[in-house]
Order: sequence, then structure tokens, then C-alpha cells
Amino acid sequence: MAVIIDGKAVSQRIREEIRQEADALTAKGIHPGLAVIIVGDDPASRIYVNNKKKACAQCGIHSEEFSLSADTTENELLELIHTLNARQDINGILCQLPLPRGFNEDVIINAIDPKKDVDAFHPGNVGGIMLNKYSFLPCTPAGVMELLKAVNTQIAGKRAVVVGRSNIVGKPMALLLLHADATVTICHSKTAGLTQICREADILVAAVGRANFITSDMIKPGAVVIDVGMNRDENGKLCGDVDFAAAEKVASALTPVPGGVGPMTITMLLKNTVTAAKNQIENAGARVARPVGI
Ligand code: NDP
Repeated sequence: MAVIIDGKAVSQRIREEIRQEADALTAKGIHPGLAVIIVGDDPASRIYVNNKKKACAQCGIHSEEFSLSADTTENELLELIHTLNARQDINGILCQLPLPRGFNEDVIINAIDPKKDVDAFHPGNVGGIMLNKYSFLPCTPAGVMELLKAVNTQIAGKRAVVVGRSNIVGKPMALLLLHADATVTICHSKTAGLTQICREADILVAAVGRANFITSDMIKPGAVVIDVGMNRDENGKLCGDVDFAAAEKVASALTPVPGGVGPMTITMLLKNTVTAAKNQIENAGARVARPVGI
């Protein structure tokens, strides 16, 4: 039977470290701050935002919510982002997606100062991931890497398969595994021979968004299986992309849903916020230290 990778426990351990870092910064007079923008009244977005604010409080991070009505104009939202970009006490800015119809999400993401882009969605930060030179990693793939580390998964030299190629999960996930020296295959809806490809994976990451999509015949015996998916089954119960009961009998380690990748995503957001605070202090220090005339 597979080892169940306890995302809640790993997350809790990392949150304790984040709390210590945040407290140390606060003791120096810099209280890490996250601005959370929500536009409209999407119930799922409301839950995510509340969870993020709660997690900030748990880790000694100051969070400020900006709740805008769905009829806010794009210019008004951009104005708010510019104000937050300029505020010294705000180190991270996140705009909860999806935005209501009529907003151009690319324009909004591009407006966030890359140094405060704690979701790592800004093209500058996305490019940094490609080059393996980054300040922040996107939260979900970074959380998966932490889970792999938590169960001492050997990555270098192994075959990794990522099912899903979204910009926020699949693609950056594949890059992080590649940077860790795995041999990586990315699959998507047009992939031919998916079952066979998945079966070759020592590390299989499912980020598809379809309940029970990964069946036991797609899993190599002994593989480490990470389930990013968050779906509802026919009874409305939260479930992942992997047929958990069947996978448990084949994999060597497996994340549950809920309690696997989910808690890690928010934890990595907190980590990025503290990193942003530290980076901004260092940059300010470097500016102050620069000799006059240069
Ligand atoms: P997207 O819908 O953006 O991407 C889904 C990907 O799955 C696409 O690349 C798509 O391929 C691929 N896909 C769809 N059908 C198939 C198929 N039959 N065979 C192979 N590939 C297929 O989703 P996200 O990446 O945003 O999210 C994926 C899942 O992860 C969702 O359930 C989401 O809720 C969850 N999620 C969980 C998070 C967490 O914290 N736990 C965070 C973020 C997401 P194509 O590109 O060809 O369309």
C-alpha cells in the first residue's frame, strides 16, 4: 500500500518556519504584508480569499483585503494596483482569479509589480522560472516539489510525467521537475497513448481537472503519484484527478484530496510573501548603500 503524503502536516511544518521568519522581520520593524484583491462575488473565490487571509494571520503576515464590486471598471482596478505597488507596507499583491467577464486578466497581471507578484503569474516571473533564475515560484508547483522532498523522492534521472499543460500548474510543474534533473513528458488533451506514457512515470503529476481520470492501469508499480486536481464527484464530494482507492494499491506514495496539494498552495503563497518582504528590504538597503553620484 502506498504511503499517503500528508500535505497538511508538511504544510504545518513549513508554516511554522514562515511564522518564525515573519516574526523576525516584524521584530526589525518590517511586518510582511499581503494585499488580496477580490472582484465580484464568486463563492469559490470568496472561500479561497478567506482561507488565504486566515493563513496569513496564522503566520504573522499582515493581510489587507480589497473587495471590489463586479461593476468595477478595469481602470479602477488598475488604479488600485498602482497604489498598492507604491505602498511600502505591502510586499505582496494577489488578485484572485478568475476576474468577472470584461476584465483582461493579462493586463491586470502585467500591472502588478513583479517584485510583489507573489502568485508568480507576471510574464517576468514566468520567464524567470524558464531560466531557473527566479524570486518566486508559482505556488502549486512549488508546493508539489515540497511534497516530493517530504517523502525523499529521488527526482534526478527519473521519468516524470505531468498530465496538464496550464500556465499556472502543468507547464511550471514540468519545468521545476526538469530543473531537478528529471526526464519530463507533458501530456494534454491531444496526447496519443496517454495510458502508456503515464505508466512509464516514476513520478506522475495529475493536473487535469477530471474526477478519477487517472486509473490504476496508468500507474507504474511503485510510482510516486501527486494529485493536483480538485473536482466534485457525482455525490458532490471533493476529489482529485486520481482514482485514489485503486492508485493506493499500485503507487509507492500518493497525495490525498483533500489534504494533499491544496494546503501547500496557500503555504507557498505565504512563503513568497515573506520572500518578497526580505527582497524588498535588501533592495532598499542596496539603494541606500549605493555611493552618492553612481
Ligand atoms: P486547466 O483546465 O487550465 O488545464 C487542464 C489541463 O488538463 C489542460 O492542459 C488540458 O489539456 C488537460 N486535459 C484535459 N483533458 C485531458 C485529457 N482527456 N487527457 C489529457 N489531458 C487533458 O486546469 P488547471 O491546470 O488550472 O487545474 C487542473 C486541476 O488542478 C483542476 O482540478 C484545478 O481545480 C486543480 N488545481 C488545484 C490547485 C490546488 O491548490 N490543489 C491549484 C490549481 C489548480 P489541453 O491543454 O489540451 O486543453
